[in-house]
Amino acid sequence: NTTHFGFKRVAAEEKAGLVRGVFDSVAEHYDIMNDLMSMGIHRIWKRIAVQLSNVRKGEQVLDLAGGTGDLTTLFEQRVGDEGNVVLADINAQMLRTGRNRLIDRGLVGNVQYTQVNAECLPFADGSFDCVCIAFGLRNVTDKDAALRSMYRVLKPGGRAIVLEFSHPIDPVTEKVYDFYSFNLLPKIGKWVAKDEDSYRYLAESIRMHPKQGELKAMMETAGFERCEYFNMTQGIVAVHRGYKL
Ligand code: SAM
Repeated sequence: NTTHFGFKRVAAEEKAGLVRGVFDSVAEHYDIMNDLMSMGIHRIWKRIAVQLSNVRKGEQVLDLAGGTGDLTTLFEQRVGDEGNVVLADINAQMLRTGRNRLIDRGLVGNVQYTQVNAECLPFADGSFDCVCIAFGLRNVTDKDAALRSMYRVLKPGGRAIVLEFSHPIDPVTEKVYDFYSFNLLPKIGKWVAKDEDSYRYLAESIRMHPKQGELKAMMETAGFERCEYFNMTQGIVAVHRGYKL
């Protein structure tokens, strides 16, 4: 059973283990690869997503699939000393790298770290003002379960932010992007991280991710209201936002 890109399709139960393995092997090179692959633009995408969250001083934020903590750093600046950010990830190696990085930057006191699976969050109902998942939902096996779990842990009036690779909105961008991600990206992965397969997986997982409209509908099904999305870089990336009212 293969996808139309010729890659082997994996069973759902195999996927969780595969994702964990991929992030174990990329953790060390994760930050430099992000900068190289996106030519630094991922920093702008992340800033815009955090702006769209409208997070304010004193709020409680969950940075889900937070990895090495880029979003946590941005949220921490917004919530200040009165607020709190929880950096949560399924992968212990990514969490460890993130925690060391944040401690080196002096971010201590109002940041907590926890190993969780997005599909079944171990927090009480109504714990957070904002739950953000950045470049993480794509890797989650049961996305509907993750969205329901995110909805449950939000306070009434809270909002979810999903920042994710999406689908180019014009054919020219799509062609260039396809060439880049199936030819150049695995090569960059090979040179820098000595790992071609993980970056081939990345390109494939992006293509399999639901389109902008589909993801918006999935959020609505999970209970979110006033859902909308914002395309960035011609739809290569999109921010989805939904509220628990
Ligand atoms: N949010 C960070 C960023 O934007 O730089 C990290 C994104 S990284 C591409 C994806 C992260 O999702 C990895 O750290 C991985 O371990 C995590 N992840 C994958 N599946 C997950 C799950 N089911 N629950 C929680 N985290 C998950």
